[in-house]
Amino acid sequence: MSPVPNAVTPQSLLRQEVLALRAYHAPSGGGMVKLDAMENPYPLPQALCEEIARLVADAPINRYPDAGAPSLKEKIRAVTNLPQGMDVLLGNGSDEIIQLLAMAVAKPGAVLLSVEPSFVMYKMIAAFTGMNYVGVPLAEDFSLDLSATLAAIKQHQPALVFLAYPNNPTGNLFDASAIEQIIQATPGLVVVDEAYYAFASASFIHRLAEYANLLVMRTFSKLGMAGLRLGFLAGSQAWLEQLEKLRLPYNVGVLPQMVAEILLEHHDVLLQQAAQIKQDRGWLYERLVGTVDVRAYASEANFILFRVAHAGQVFEGLKQRGILIKNLHGAHPALDHCLRVTVGTPEQNEQFIVALQESIHQIT
Ligand code: PMP
Repeated sequence: MSPVPNAVTPQSLLRQEVLALRAYHAPSGGGMVKLDAMENPYPLPQALCEEIARLVADAPINRYPDAGAPSLKEKIRAVTNLPQGMDVLLGNGSDEIIQLLAMAVAKPGAVLLSVEPSFVMYKMIAAFTGMNYVGVPLAEDFSLDLSATLAAIKQHQPALVFLAYPNNPTGNLFDASAIEQIIQATPGLVVVDEAYYAFASASFIHRLAEYANLLVMRTFSKLGMAGLRLGFLAGSQAWLEQLEKLRLPYNVGVLPQMVAEILLEHHDVLLQQAAQIKQDRGWLYERLVGTVDVRAYASEANFILFRVAHAGQVFEGLKQRGILIKNLHGAHPALDHCLRVTVGTPEQNEQFIVALQESIHQIT
């Protein structure tokens, strides 16, 4: 049956910013060793799976979730060691929180500022919400270019600044004193995005009370809960009570709330997995550094960025050998011929290194 005719088309109706966007592409990786998306490679212990299965069997999925999620929030506060007076806002992944923050500040002409290369959703969400985006280039070693960043803040007076700490896709932690200066110079909010906190040696969460315009965002995705979609924003009540108005009331479902609570009760299991991943990151980094024609960047996250002579061919070579990583060539000029690999299990890391060396050898 053909539809009733109407002159409207996507091109005529949709906002120019939307038409200009390219959809975020996430390959499924079916059947491959999946080292492209910073997931935790470890399954849960059997006993924990059984506990989850029992609870899920009785879950009240005919009911809307508890919108305030008080008991989940309490567990998050406890495992996070939140400073006195700080609270959390829950998101369907931290992606949703980025969007919520942008919606909240998107007055006409408002600016969202970040650094580049960094997490691509900052720029995309600026477009979704009609904000003006400013991306300040990082220095060549991917550290913050503090003077350029301060100059851009002075010029553009951003309402919202995002700093990923550690940064994705470069893996490094920015200099803490440079971040402090950025927080002080910014007329709007600064969000330190600690998506990779579980693998890093530093955090701003304990410094929330020091700066009235600082918020810290985290996600449980990289700690082993990517499929649950749960992130949170930590900050003072004054900010969170306003931002809560924009949170869709049932954004975290009954099942994610329930399962996340159980997992946070067994936080030690996940932290142990993170510790293993950190240790294996060291092994993987050494192997990358020791591979000819590879330049690897030191990482405080659960992935490593590295540069090769022919990223496209190496990426395809890995795929042919059943290994999916992320090809960043073309994503940003500073990422020319860069690839990003997520730290997997020791076996997966070995498989990756062998396949990488074969792929490089095949070209040269
Ligand atoms: N922030 C950063 C820096 C990230 O790299 C990611 C995931 N790639 C996110 C936020 C979003 O994570 P999620 O939506 O799974 O919480």
